[in-house]
Amino acid sequence: MKRHFPLGRRTMRSLPKVMLHEHLDCSLRPRTMLELWQSHGFEKAQIGFPADVLSEWNKAATVAGVNRRKLRTSAAAQYQDFLVGFASQSLANYVKAIVDHVLPIMQSSSNLERITRERMEDATADGIAGLELRFAPQLHTFSGLSLDNVMDSVISGIKYATFPTKLILCVLRHENADMARRIADLCVKYQRYVGVFDLAADERANPGVLKWWLKAALYVKMLAPPIAVTIHLWETDEPTDQDISLLRGFDIMLQEVTRRLRHKQLFKDDVWRVAHEVVEEMFATFNAIDADADSGLMRIGHGFRGNRQGNRLLEICPTSNVVTGQVVSFGDHPIDRLHREGKRVTVSTDGTLFTEVHLTDEYLKLQEHFGWKPADFLKVNLTAVEGSSFSLRTKARLRAQLKRAYGRL
Ligand SMILES: [Zn+2]
Repeated sequence: MKRHFPLGRRTMRSLPKVMLHEHLDCSLRPRTMLELWQSHGFEKAQIGFPADVLSEWNKAATVAGVNRRKLRTSAAAQYQDFLVGFASQSLANYVKAIVDHVLPIMQSSSNLERITRERMEDATADGIAGLELRFAPQLHTFSGLSLDNVMDSVISGIKYATFPTKLILCVLRHENADMARRIADLCVKYQRYVGVFDLAADERANPGVLKWWLKAALYVKMLAPPIAVTIHLWETDEPTDQDISLLRGFDIMLQEVTRRLRHKQLFKDDVWRVAHEVVEEMFATFNAIDADADSGLMRIGHGFRGNRQGNRLLEICPTSNVVTGQVVSFGDHPIDRLHREGKRVTVSTDGTLFTEVHLTDEYLKLQEHFGWKPADFLKVNLTAVEGSSFSLRTKARLRAQLKRAYGRL
């Protein structure tokens, strides 16, 4: 049956979608946040809750049935407006909103499992057919959980997914080699669930391709080869020649580490030492690598600025870039140009809380602003499958599912 265009929300929602770039700590339900804050203590919030949100929420406790639900829904909507208004003032505020309002309620096993389970339920309703969900486990250890406790809780949550999922573990730009090694070891230990190793956080304060993180990325690739690597880049700034050279050099460095460890048993400390040596040598001679070479293993988180991304997979989150002030409006976003130029574009939300979108909404905006057709959506989804960390069998199944669904339109 032929559909009428443009596609309506219901059709768009029903279409299978593969998403590679979604932060767990930017995707909580506002209503769940209020519930968890009530148990935690509203008064403990560093940025105070608005009085009208609290009064509506508290009033809900005094009534029953439909009225209670209405009041809670309304309090949650006002709370989300407040958070979005605060976070969208600057990148510093955005981070502060996560630190002060999100992370405090993500410090127990039960909360982490619930938040992850709800994200899976929302994704099912959004038509998600494959998801890579990212988080930084070390941000959930402030009240005594171990890194293993955090992993186990999130893994319990993703078991509610009705579609293939993989976790992405993030190291943060302001951290260091010790933390990178700990998170890299988690990737190796939990590789049944972890598909990707990432570098996230403030690109302006700690720009570029960081040396200590590269070592950890090589370490992960040596000890758990199926794990993919992605780096947040080209989001707030354009990388330098050296950064682009290092991206290109990653594959060469990996070959070199492999060569030096050939025929040896892979002891973790030896891999770490050799990765360190190879990265140090590479940094000393980075000019030797052609900065314009345009391929590479590494995926790029965001990657929407300028024109030097080459053929790398780009995890583009258009609404997020508007909310954080990187582009003026959705219609000004270069995603359509990059897609038309044949770059390897994929589409994600980055998170649902501050962007106030699910992937269905991103697709509707792409249709509205740039006239994207089913063939465009199919293309970005096939690119996402290709670059994902799913098994070959899962990829084949997803490709067939996508072609069937979009081909029918
Ligand atoms: Zn991101």
